[in-house]
Amino acid sequence: MFKRLVDTFSNGFLFVKNNPQIIYTIFLIVIIPAAFIVSGQNFLSVAKENQERLEKERVGVLQDIFVELAALKINDPVFLQSVIERLGDQNKESISEFKIVVFENGKQKIIASLTKDEIGTADEDNAFFYREAGARVDSSKIFPVSGLDGARHWKVVRAIPSVDTGVVSGVVLIDVSMATIDNVAKRNIESAYTYLFFIVLAISFLLMRQAKIIDYTVLYRKLKEVDQMKDDFIAMAAHELRTPLTIVKGHADMLAESKNLKDEEKKDVSRITASIDQLNALIGDILDVVRLGQGKMTFNRKNTDISPIIENVVESFSVVARQKGLDISCEKNDVPNIFVDPEKLRQVLVNIIGNSIKYTPTGSVRVFTEVSHGMVFIRVRDTGIGISAEDQQKLFGKFFRVQSKETEDIRGTGLGLWIAHQVVSNMGGEIHVESIKGKGSDFIISFPVTK
Ligand code: ADP
Repeated sequence: MFKRLVDTFSNGFLFVKNNPQIIYTIFLIVIIPAAFIVSGQNFLSVAKENQERLEKERVGVLQDIFVELAALKINDPVFLQSVIERLGDQNKESISEFKIVVFENGKQKIIASLTKDEIGTADEDNAFFYREAGARVDSSKIFPVSGLDGARHWKVVRAIPSVDTGVVSGVVLIDVSMATIDNVAKRNIESAYTYLFFIVLAISFLLMRQAKIIDYTVLYRKLKEVDQMKDDFIAMAAHELRTPLTIVKGHADMLAESKNLKDEEKKDVSRITASIDQLNALIGDILDVVRLGQGKMTFNRKNTDISPIIENVVESFSVVARQKGLDISCEKNDVPNIFVDPEKLRQVLVNIIGNSIKYTPTGSVRVFTEVSHGMVFIRVRDTGIGISAEDQQKLFGKFFRVQSKETEDIRGTGLGLWIAHQVVSNMGGEIHVESIKGKGSDFIISFPVTK
């Protein structure tokens, strides 16, 4: 039981270690809603504080003016009563008590009030506030209390200075209800939490998709592993095929040199040799595809004079071309050096020139070089079957072969141009095609001149 627990825990730990995105997901699940809650609360408390400050100022101004008036008219309670009633009427929502008390024989007595019945009484309930405010002539205080209606209230008290003596002649008390402000704040909080709920919902939805991405990542890694295994297997199989092929080729070459062979037998041997060469080339292509796919192809780039390489490749194709009745030539001119792997460039030229011969039934194959704008261009021009504009778009894709009447009897794998394109790009060059279907093609390989 304990062992199973430990196993589960260590498996979970390993899974998280191999998929650090999970930590990121959990981080998002916790941190985003938390950030919203904190910033929402912060915003609401700032808004509430501001509203309270405004309310304080409003009541303060009201009292400032009223106290000035009350000081002048302290001996005219009827007038003060009418003012209180008018102000109370205008602020029905927020002011629930508004009264003036004066002190007689050390006791307070209400001389004007919104609640008319209490005029003349001592209002013992509020005695504490009157005492506090009456203690000093410039006293002005706000006491937060909770009202009978369950809402927050402020008891705002201010001393009324006597105009003649300057001592405290009375106190004005206003009871301000915070119900309206609190209701607005409550509504804000409610709508903020509604928004938060929807935001959390949206985030959860996104994170569920993120969880799917984790699945995909795991799957992707597995696929890569399988892909790697497949590549390793292909590379191993291709290598293993090469060994017996070399032996067969050796024997076929020896047989070809034998003087006792009849003409028909010589033809058979040369067919065997040609097939072995084809097979070898195919194995070479497969190995190149694997190496390029894994980024394992090595390039020994150096300052290279390409003219001898071009001449050599053209020369090596001259017999095949002649047998096909094609005219093959290369223009000799001085070309600046380029920085490439000479063997790899040779391989690309063999492929491109080989294709030109393969896909040209009659006419010629010409190779020439041009130098312009700091670039060297190698142009392989044939008068062959040509390639349509649509096929030209896909020409350098892996396994792409033009499907047409002209190509149906020509064998190939569709790998040569893909390899050529990859090799040229890896050496900092470019390859492209210009062609008119039925007229011929130009394959152009370009490299910057070595500085
Ligand atoms: P493969 O020749 O083995 O089929 P490549 O990758 O070398 O593969 O070429 C891809 C395709 O491009 C060929 O199948 C052929 O249809 C077309 N192609 C290549 N070179 C020429 C060319 N010089 N003229 C016409 N078509 C060509």
